[in-house]
Amino acid sequence: MTVDTSKFAASSNIIFVLGGPGSGKGTQSAFLVQRFPELCHLSAGDLLREEVADKNSELGEEISHMIKNGLIVRAEVTVKLLQNAMAKNPEKKLFLIDGFPRAIAQAECFEKMVGTCKFVLLLDVPEDVMRDRLLERGKTSGRTDDNVESIIKRFRTYRETTMPVIELYHERVVTVRGDRTPEEVSAELESLFSQVIATE
Ligand code: AMP
Repeated sequence: MTVDTSKFAASSNIIFVLGGPGSGKGTQSAFLVQRFPELCHLSAGDLLREEVADKNSELGEEISHMIKNGLIVRAEVTVKLLQNAMAKNPEKKLFLIDGFPRAIAQAECFEKMVGTCKFVLLLDVPEDVMRDRLLERGKTSGRTDDNVESIIKRFRTYRETTMPVIELYHERVVTVRGDRTPEEVSAELESLFSQVIATE
């Protein structure tokens, strides 16, 4: 794919990766950091799950409840976790932030506390495909939200709360069809990121 990088925010080193639950954000981000070592992958969901697992965290219980119910964790909490994780990787050229911002308030909080994004990578996948993937993953993932009830709530949150973020950044959104094999999606992303990194 050829992309018009002139519409990106040139001074930013942050790329938001969005898409519904099960769209392949984590899988493709993992591929990208392995292919391009100058990238740093930070998953908002993983950082929140680490917080839940941390017995000393005062926020664990609140976050755990939100995750089970497919709800959005408070903006300041998520932004702070991301900010700390970015500070731990000062040598990285570009940050791939997956599953963030999931709400307009998060986008605004991040813009204020950290800065704007270069562009938004959107993995576009129909809900029925995502649902099948999540149920399949749920057989082994051990995640508290890969079950039918949580999945329905997560889809609703995505439609009502995250889609407005995509609208907010519409001029800087790069959409990639994600309802193909992981290898096909990765090949397209490899071409996209080769162009992005070449302009850095
Ligand atoms: P994920 O691993 O991206 O599928 O996220 C799993 C769950 O973590 C979501 O359903 C939310 O409850 C929570 N979560 C993930 N990212 C965010 C975020 N940016 N803001 C708030 N909550 C989030």
